[in-house]
Amino acid sequence: MAVPKKKTSKSRRDMRRSHLGLKSVAVGECPNCGETKLPHHVCGSCGYYDGREVVSAAAEA
Ligand SMILES: [Zn+2]
Repeated sequence: MAVPKKKTSKSRRDMRRSHLGLKSVAVGECPNCGETKLPHHVCGSCGYYDGREVVSAAAEA
């Protein structure tokens, strides 16, 4: 079994983990109702996407 020859220093270990942090979630604004929504997703409050109603607001509720 392969065994590391040297102990990984705290510095090296933490440098490796520098990419593991959580990234903030991207948020966009609905051009129809102004509600915050995820980019490339149908608006959760008015059901609009790309300027037209894709999901009826009644079906959302
Ligand atoms: Zn909307």
